[in-house]
Amino acid sequence: MPQARRARKPTEREDYGWVISFGCKSTGTLRRLKVDADPASDTRPIEVPCLCGEIHRVIVSPYRRRRSADEPFDLEVESLDELR
Ligand SMILES: [Zn+2]
Repeated sequence: MPQARRARKPTEREDYGWVISFGCKSTGTLRRLKVDADPASDTRPIEVPCLCGEIHRVIVSPYRRRRSADEPFDLEVESLDELR
């Protein structure tokens, strides 16, 4: 099947990936991790290399949601498997 995720249909939402928010304890800020693949299939914790230089252990399931078109993010991966 051809990739349809770039197709522009006004009635359907485009795929901008998913956002997993996590708190950076070192700086006290909320970071956003963008992931292309739907993370729902595997909700094991991930280890995120944060911008602060530390690696934060993040629980996936409660914070997963669709990313909106122009929503900024701090980090990006294709799959959460990269962080396990
Ligand atoms: Zn951090």
